[in-house]
Amino acid sequence: MAQFAVIGLGRFGAAASLELMKLGHSVLAVDTSGKLVDKYADHLTRAVIADVTDRAALEELGLDNYDVVLVAIGEDVQASLVCTVHLKSLGIKTIWVKASSHAQHLILSKLGVDRIIHPEEEMGIRVAQVLSYPMVNDYISIGNGEFVVEIDVSEKLDGVALDSVLKEVDGAIHVLVLKRKTEVTPHPPRDTALQANDVLVLLGQLSALKNIAPKLA
Ligand code: ADP
Repeated sequence: MAQFAVIGLGRFGAAASLELMKLGHSVLAVDTSGKLVDKYADHLTRAVIADVTDRAALEELGLDNYDVVLVAIGEDVQASLVCTVHLKSLGIKTIWVKASSHAQHLILSKLGVDRIIHPEEEMGIRVAQVLSYPMVNDYISIGNGEFVVEIDVSEKLDGVALDSVLKEVDGAIHVLVLKRKTEVTPHPPRDTALQANDVLVLLGQLSALKNIAPKLA
């Protein structure tokens, strides 16, 4: 379990906070709005009303104990930047900041924050990728062109052995998991007969996955 602090409980900050809680982490959220703090207080480890442009208020939060501080202030670019400068001067280890413009990105990169997030652009790229491979439910990039993807098996393949589908990309793809209803089988045997509604989690190079995805769907 890691400890996260999220500054700003707008749509982005609130969604990030709730998801981190779901993933089993501890979350301190901060906002100037008492209404928002009240709204989320019961769902987060701690929610505090504070103005993060006030260095003393920020210092009082004891953020140096946290693994990552995520600055999720969107509209008020000035508040976001002032808060980031304070976090830096307080020696916070890891700072992620949501940016809304290139000018803000430029300043944040000069401040040396650990990650600058552009939610609209990142989401746009992700949506385009999912749209071009609609059979892919979800994916993560693990670097060097390798991806882990989750694919729904088409009804057409009911009864077909996993082996015969994968032989064209022999060796290039690893079947990590077969999900069948509530049953999860790690490394299913290659002679497993597929069933409609099976879900496969595959690991491989993007080129091999692009080749195999349409054959499974
Ligand atoms: P989103 O686009 O994710 O909804 P917003 O910019 O609307 O982002 O929300 C950012 C949140 O940050 C708001 O709830 C706002 O009250 C909060 N916020 C803005 N300035 C400060 C500040 N100086 N200190 C603490 N919270 C702030």
